[in-house]
Amino acid sequence: MRNLLIVLSGPSGVGKGTIVKRLLKSGNYALSISCTTRAPRAGETDGKDYFFLTRESFEESIGKGGFLEYSEHFGNYYGTPRAFVEKKLKDRDVLLEIDVDGALNVKKAHPEALLIMIVPPDKNTLYERLLKRGSESEEKIRERLARTDYELSRADGYDYTVINGELNAAVSEIENIIEHEKEK
Ligand code: 5GP
Repeated sequence: MRNLLIVLSGPSGVGKGTIVKRLLKSGNYALSISCTTRAPRAGETDGKDYFFLTRESFEESIGKGGFLEYSEHFGNYYGTPRAFVEKKLKDRDVLLEIDVDGALNVKKAHPEALLIMIVPPDKNTLYERLLKRGSESEEKIRERLARTDYELSRADGYDYTVINGELNAAVSEIENIIEHEKEK
């Protein structure tokens, strides 16, 4: 069976991070670690959550074709390191947790990639989750919420949409989708 490039996206606060952690527990998948120029949040580690780069070195890597895709959000670059992902794909399925623009760019370059959009049961749930996370100012939360409509509007470019209402159900649904796609 071929190894899949699986892209998970969804609005900020939808619970992507928790879902990814649960999927990784199975040991079936490798996670792509993105590069970013944003500052680490409390508790984030370089090489684990992201590779934290300066703008200068990020731009140097863009010039060398070092990213499978990259985009800019909230004034910072985010990108998927090409060599890192290609190496991991030799071994197993690789999960990418990236935004909609990045995901659709991956699909253009790799039509065989599996794109899954994770959506909240409703918008209030998102706001509550972002507040609870407590890592961001009210203004930043508003900025992130404003982007939500745009992200959800791109869902039709995805192969599947999964509602993250109940965590276990969402994780099982994603695992079933992956299994089904691998059997194709
Ligand atoms: P955060 O700052 O909350 O970690 O991430 C902000 C946004 O950047 C999220 O929507 C996240 O999915 C996106 N992102 C993270 N890594 C990448 C990446 O490698 N490429 C792209 N295009 N977006 C990313």
